[in-house]
Amino acid sequence: MAVQNAKVLRKLKKSYAWSGMLVTVFLSIVMIVTLAVLASAALQYVLESWISAEYDRISYMAHIYESGMSDELKRLDREDRAYVVIDEDDRFVYTYGHNTCSGTGHPTKVLNEGGFLDIIVYPDTESQVFELDDDSITIDLSSFVPDVLNVNKLIEIQTPEAIKLPLWIGVKMKDGSVFAGRSTLDIDRNDLMFLGAVAGALAGVFALVFIFMLIRLIFGIRNRRRLTKLVFGDEATGGNNWMYFRMKGEQILKRKRNARNHYAVLDIVFFKYRNYCVCHSVAEGEKKLAMVRQVIESWLNRGELSAHYASANFVALIKADSNDVLQKRLEDLLNQLGCVDPVHNISFHIGAASLDACEDHHNNASHDCPVDLERDYNNACAARATLDETDGPAIAYFTDQMMDEQIWEDRVRETQMAALLNEEFLVYYQPKYNPADDKLTGAEALIRWQSPEFGFISPGRFIPIFEKNGFITEIDHYMIRHVARDQKRWHDAGYNCVPVSVNVSRAHFVEEDLAEQIRDIVDSEGALHELIELELTESAFFDDKKALVSTISKLKSYGFAVSMDDFGSGYSSLNSLKDLPLDVLKLDAEFFRGNADGERSEIVISETIRLAQALNMRTVAEGVEIKDQVDFLAKQGCDMIQGYFYAKPMPGSEYEQRMNAG
Ligand code: C2E
Ligand code: CA
Ligand code: CA
Repeated sequence: MAVQNAKVLRKLKKSYAWSGMLVTVFLSIVMIVTLAVLASAALQYVLESWISAEYDRISYMAHIYESGMSDELKRLDREDRAYVVIDEDDRFVYTYGHNTCSGTGHPTKVLNEGGFLDIIVYPDTESQVFELDDDSITIDLSSFVPDVLNVNKLIEIQTPEAIKLPLWIGVKMKDGSVFAGRSTLDIDRNDLMFLGAVAGALAGVFALVFIFMLIRLIFGIRNRRRLTKLVFGDEATGGNNWMYFRMKGEQILKRKRNARNHYAVLDIVFFKYRNYCVCHSVAEGEKKLAMVRQVIESWLNRGELSAHYASANFVALIKADSNDVLQKRLEDLLNQLGCVDPVHNISFHIGAASLDACEDHHNNASHDCPVDLERDYNNACAARATLDETDGPAIAYFTDQMMDEQIWEDRVRETQMAALLNEEFLVYYQPKYNPADDKLTGAEALIRWQSPEFGFISPGRFIPIFEKNGFITEIDHYMIRHVARDQKRWHDAGYNCVPVSVNVSRAHFVEEDLAEQIRDIVDSEGALHELIELELTESAFFDDKKALVSTISKLKSYGFAVSMDDFGSGYSSLNSLKDLPLDVLKLDAEFFRGNADGERSEIVISETIRLAQALNMRTVAEGVEIKDQVDFLAKQGCDMIQGYFYAKPMPGSEYEQRMNAG
């Protein structure tokens, strides 16, 4: 889930950045193109209107020159009109007056009354250097004038009325040479106003777009900050959250972890945080969490990371070059955390999981190790969970054995369903005997796993895993079905059948129609209800009592016996005995183990049996291994004994013989 979120966020950020960039680039291009088109159109308009007017004058001069009208030429000379004649290769053939023609012209078309005219525009070489008096202004037109016209780079506004821009205009004569006359481009007040208006409008548009982009950028940055805080921030402590830790931590490990750089993931827990909140309020608790965050963050070195995981848990990724260094640092952290609230004596537990060195097949540093911070943090938590009973500050390390257990748990989870379908789970029966006459009076069905892959496995190795991962309900159904099937077969075959009890897990008791499910399974196998008994563990009695009473009552009304398993282990359920209509009380094996004071435990056992009798319940003593215990229990009126003294759990085939033997 967290991975998914991080991916979405990364996508979001990326797409956001991309869209922002695309809009900016697009708007810039639109702006530049619009500016260029408008500027060139405006200038073209001004220049063309002027050039076409000048054309007539220059073409008249060309005509005079071409037709050799010497008087007229003299008049031209008198008027000091500068002109040149240029051949096809741009070489000067004739020059009159002060020649400032550049000699290299650019053909262009201008619109005249008679249509488009082909003319050549020559830049004026000298006019690029102006002698400016104080009132005049110099404008660099190079960036505005279209290249095709290549007019002079500098123009001078000599009068407030107009800009004078010297240019040469060439007209092709009949012999192929070009007659170029010097002219002056006058940009008058109107032209200037027009150009100014266009420039102003463009500048306005540019400013608007720029302001828009700026506002968008500022809002974008602000929104991104908010989004980042929302997604990666932790409300309770003001620090980072798990999602941030995972994303950043993965980056660190991918970039930095190698054969020399070792890392460890920590689970840091404010021990009994709930109690603290109950005593001092949640707000006070959160204040302390914020302080814890500060302590952890200031304790970290560069390139390390921490975050608030949830409730009282913090996660950290730190460098751990050796176990000794790691231990010293963690002890130091515990000391510092101890100062968070010296008055109320709070303590912290730390679980540490060292990450494998990242090496390739040749033991060289590698950057390609798979990174799974969720798994690493789980490992740190698993180590820390071993400290749950410890009151003071403590540190636990994730060990190889824990790793093996985790691998085993995963393997069980992966194979459990196939094992069920392949009927790899076997039903063993442990007989229960009446100690008064040594007669078989019942049995308990106990599961075994005959796995082709793992061999023969006792329930202690897989039942707790099924309870954790929820598969236990499938197992309960499986056992009830198989026991019912066996009982039906044995009954039909004329065996001396006695009730067989089946364990029903605590997790199963939350299902409202449990009694109906059990009844339907037994009925579908055709077994007698009185041959099936159901065992509930004592801890189940702490769940929803109302639902429990209802299920037990229903089971009893269907004709099944119900027993309380493991009575006396762990919690006292005397109170439950008062409310629950149970048939059988199974005394936990703990009563018959160890070096407890014989006399005192005999009192407890005998009084418990008496209590059960008074409540109309039969008693079963579990885990009885020695004759003295059997004799004592017989004397106390215990109804049944289930223990190695009589028999160990056995396969059905063996149990059949026991039934026949009585
Ligand atoms: P439990 O229900 O308390 O079962 C009794 C356990 O005590 C059995 O262990 C049995 O072999 C053992 N036992 C009986 N007499 C003696 C004795 O004299 N000495 C010693 N040392 N042990 C004795 P087992 O078969 O290994 O089962 C362990 C636990 O696994 C069971 O405890 C039960 O909690 C669970 N379990 C077993 N089968 C099933 C099942 O089919 N469904 C469920 N939900 N749990 C099961
Ligand atoms: Ca049991
Ligand atoms: Ca038991």
